[in-house]
Amino acid sequence: MHNHPRVVILGAGFGGLWAARSMAHTRAEVMLLDRNNYHTFLPLLYQVAAAELSPEDIVYPVRSILRKLPNVQFCLADIHRVDFSSTTVATNGQAIAYDYLILAMGSVTHFFGVPGAAQHAFNLKTLEQGIDLRNQILSCFERALHERNRECRRRLLTVAIVGGGPTGVEFTGALAELVRGPMVKDFRQLDLREVRVVLLEASQTLLSGLPRKLSAYAQDRLHRMGVELHLGTTVSEVTRLFVKLKDGTVIPTETVIWTAGVRGDPMAEFWGLPTSGGGRVQVLPTLQLADHPEVYIVGDLAHGETNGRPLPMIAPVAMQQGTTAARNILRHMNGGNPLPFHYSDRGTMVTIGRNAAVVNFAGCAVSGFAAWVVWLSVHLAKLIGFRNRLLVLINWAWDYLFYERAVRLILPLRTGGDLRQRESNSTSTEDSGDSAA
Ligand SMILES: Cc1cc2nc3c(=O)[nH]c(=O)nc-3n(C[C@H](O)[C@H](O)[C@H](O)COP(=O)(O)OP(=O)(O)OC[C@H]3O[C@@H](n4cnc5c(N)ncnc54)[C@H](O)[C@@H]3O)c2cc1C
Repeated sequence: MHNHPRVVILGAGFGGLWAARSMAHTRAEVMLLDRNNYHTFLPLLYQVAAAELSPEDIVYPVRSILRKLPNVQFCLADIHRVDFSSTTVATNGQAIAYDYLILAMGSVTHFFGVPGAAQHAFNLKTLEQGIDLRNQILSCFERALHERNRECRRRLLTVAIVGGGPTGVEFTGALAELVRGPMVKDFRQLDLREVRVVLLEASQTLLSGLPRKLSAYAQDRLHRMGVELHLGTTVSEVTRLFVKLKDGTVIPTETVIWTAGVRGDPMAEFWGLPTSGGGRVQVLPTLQLADHPEVYIVGDLAHGETNGRPLPMIAPVAMQQGTTAARNILRHMNGGNPLPFHYSDRGTMVTIGRNAAVVNFAGCAVSGFAAWVVWLSVHLAKLIGFRNRLLVLINWAWDYLFYERAVRLILPLRTGGDLRQRESNSTSTEDSGDSAA
């Protein structure tokens, strides 16, 4: 190994970016790869889909983030394959050799093999998918204006969200507020009593990982916002025109949003890495691969455990693992041994809408306005870039004061209507036996 060992990081999400930052100003030569030249702040993606924020507000150019880190380079590339024996990464451009490798490619939507879901349901995992979903919702309202057939009109005005976890609850709340607020003003000719926002959840409660009183609060708030809640409900089929439940109920809709599950990026399986049921790669406590100790896995792609349970697929886990992997590599470069990863739990917070959120931290369960202020402050502070923080703050204030959504735009998309099909191709190896929401 030469004087400046090359560390290649695949993915500039939370895990990859935090790993790269932790190796700044060291003797490592770091190369960060991603298919996008920006980092996406995924926790606010649902607000892009709900016309609350512009896509640019939640992304930040990777090169700007790395500008002051002289030993870290960025390479825009689609990662195709890793050859672990020759220690090279194959991309759509050059092949890149590494001394150490960090895999941080994140996760994809998990459809649990439900027929039609991968083809017809909308996902919320990438910026393009957020814009695609916003386009769909706004386009359906535009089409409904000219639709004389009542059944067709109601179908266009029905949105079904599958999955009552944090993303499903946050998006449902934001959508309900969009519909009952700005859309009422924009679509005066429509009878908005025909609009249905339906949330489908397999278990008996929303936000099932949180204390019962917080789940009950979220449920009550959404109910009061006019959302139809179907708990203990399993989806059996999704088509272009309806979603069908296991009990035979058919909900006519052209907009089904799947937030019910995620799994590790399937590429790791294609490359022959050992994975858990959820497509996450089995790692040693130090985050290394057992057969290739020079390779580390972090974030959603890594299967780690805390107190005998899998670590959640959330940003703090990815950031902390990225930092640990980087430090372990530096330790190894300096002749030391890697240390095990310990997750420091910073709690969970979910917003339901205006003045309403839940926070669960260190055994303390808070809901309502105080929790909402905490949620706003934490998300604002975590966003990368002062300009983004300012823009998001202005948009939130505008929305709060005037009950307006600034970005009700139907934008042309480069990838057009292919987004759902593309996701279905990338997850075609999914198992089909699991239960779904
Ligand atoms: C809608 C949504 C809301 C969320 N809300 C929250 C929240 O409120 N709080 C929270 O803590 N967590 C939240 N999460 C989860 C959190 O975002 C993830 O746990 C976190 O992003 C995982 O980090 P990661 O680095 O593993 O992957 P990611 O952040 O997903 O990064 C993966 C990166 O790899 C790149 N990549 C993947 N494949 C390739 C390839 N073949 N070639 C090139 N580049 C590639 C991607 O472009 C991406 O930049 C949310 C997730 C979503 C989708």
